[in-house]
Amino acid sequence: MLTLMYHNVLAQPADDLPIAGHQVTCRSFQLQVERLRPHILHPFEAHDQLCKGYRPQGVVLTFDDGALGLLDAARILAHYGCVGVAFVCPDAFQNGLWFYKLADGLVRTTSGVLKWGRQQWPLRSAHERRWAYEEISERLFVCPAKVRDQSLAELWDSLQVPAGVPHPALTIMNEPLLRQMVQTRGMVLANHSWSHPNLVMLSSDEYRQEIGAAQRWLEASGLPFVPWFAFPQGVHDAQTRDAVRLCRLRGFGAGMVEPNDVLPRAGIYRMDANPWRFRAKTAVEGRLLRLKERARRYWRGNR
Ligand SMILES: [Zn+2]
Repeated sequence: MLTLMYHNVLAQPADDLPIAGHQVTCRSFQLQVERLRPHILHPFEAHDQLCKGYRPQGVVLTFDDGALGLLDAARILAHYGCVGVAFVCPDAFQNGLWFYKLADGLVRTTSGVLKWGRQQWPLRSAHERRWAYEEISERLFVCPAKVRDQSLAELWDSLQVPAGVPHPALTIMNEPLLRQMVQTRGMVLANHSWSHPNLVMLSSDEYRQEIGAAQRWLEASGLPFVPWFAFPQGVHDAQTRDAVRLCRLRGFGAGMVEPNDVLPRAGIYRMDANPWRFRAKTAVEGRLLRLKERARRYWRGNR
C-alpha cells in the first residue's frame, strides 16, 4: 500500500506564502487522481485489510491539517468516485491551527520587522517572511499548548495584523465547513491530535490528552472516520507510538522509512505537478522513493 500525504489543494497557487511548497493546484490534483484512480483504495477497505493483517495493494490519499482547500479536494475525489482521509485537529475548528495563524500573521502584517523577545526578523520580502516562519514555527512546535498559544498571541500583537479574515490559502475549516466537506462523500476523517504539538516533547499526560481528546471528538461527531492517527510533522518515539496503539489507532508517519508500527507516507508537494516526478514517486507503490530516502539517510549518517 502506498499512502500519499497532501496538505492543501488550491484553485490558484499563492506563491508568496511561507508554506507555499505544500500547496497543490486543483488542476494538478485532478490529473493525479485521474492517473491513480484504478488503484485508489477506499479508506474503510484499506483499514479492514490492515486489521486482517494484510498489506492492501493500492493507493490511499490522505490530507493533513484540515485547510479550507480540502473542500475542493473532496469535491474532485467525489467526482471520480474516490474517497480520501482528512487528518484533522478539532481544536483548529474554533481557534485555527497555530502554524497557519503564524504564517497568516507574517503574510498580512504591514510591519516591515517582527520584534519578539530579544530577537527581531526583517519582513520586507517573501524570502524573509519564510525565514521568520521557519525559525519561529520550529520553536513553537516543541512547546506545550499553553506556552505556544501565549507566544502566538504575543507575536500577533507585535505583528499588528490588520483585522479581517485570514488569507484564503491559510484558512482552516470550521466545523460547518468540515461537515460540508464530508457531505461531498469524497472524504472521511481521522485523528491528527487535538492541537498539533510535537508529541515527543510533551509529558505522557499531555500527549495522551492530545490523542484522546481528538479521538473523543471524532467519535461524538457522528461523521465517518477511520481509527488512524497521523503524528504531527511525522515526529514520534516509542512512548508516543505506544500511546497511539493503546487508543487502538493505527499510526501514520510523514516519511517513507518508518518503524514497523508506523505506516509510511509519501508527501506530495507543489513540485510534483511535474508528471514525471509524480510518476517516479508513486511507481511500484513508492518503492523507488523508499530506496531513495534510505540512501539519503545512509549518506547523512556516514558523513
Ligand atoms: Zn500536520
